[in-house]
Amino acid sequence: MNKVYLLLGSNAGNREVLLQEAANQIADNCGKIVVESSTYQTAAWGMENQEAFLNKVLQINTQLQAEILLKNLQTIENNLGRQREVLWGPRTLDIDILFFNHEVISLPDLKVPHPFLQKRRFTLVPMAEIAPAMVHPVLHKTIAELLEECTDTLEVAKWP
Ligand code: ADP
Ligand code: MG
Repeated sequence: MNKVYLLLGSNAGNREVLLQEAANQIADNCGKIVVESSTYQTAAWGMENQEAFLNKVLQINTQLQAEILLKNLQTIENNLGRQREVLWGPRTLDIDILFFNHEVISLPDLKVPHPFLQKRRFTLVPMAEIAPAMVHPVLHKTIAELLEECTDTLEVAKWP
């Protein structure tokens, strides 16, 4: 059984419904949701003149291999209306694999741990809520330490 952390994000459409529907489809198609963070709102990262994001982290247990899990998550993104036109532009639903056990994966289409997670408060804040003591397998620091050191200034607030 693989222990996996996923980041869900939405900044277009009915964001709250989309996050809930994504969680339902993940539970049906990927594995059991063991822990769920609160929902947080963050100003859009990268391209700042768009609607704010809602984000949450799920810890799931899955039998799926990492690449198969990624494919299933992309199918869920597509089911929920994701269109990939602008990099870092508005998206109904984004699902990123943050951690897959303590594995380091470096494939062309799959990098785990997620390469930007230590740079983004919107990822570290919900991770720190549910797994502050988890150690990053490359950086060898806990999530709480990474959050303390993070220089990202975008405000991440519990939502609603
Ligand atoms: P982003 O999440 O960076 O805003 P996308 O969701 O469009 O952008 O992802 C672009 C590509 O990132 C996907 O096609 C996927 O193959 C790749 N990718 C690499 N590592 C990961 C990961 N850990 N989780 C999800 N996607 C990943
Ligand atoms: Mg993504």
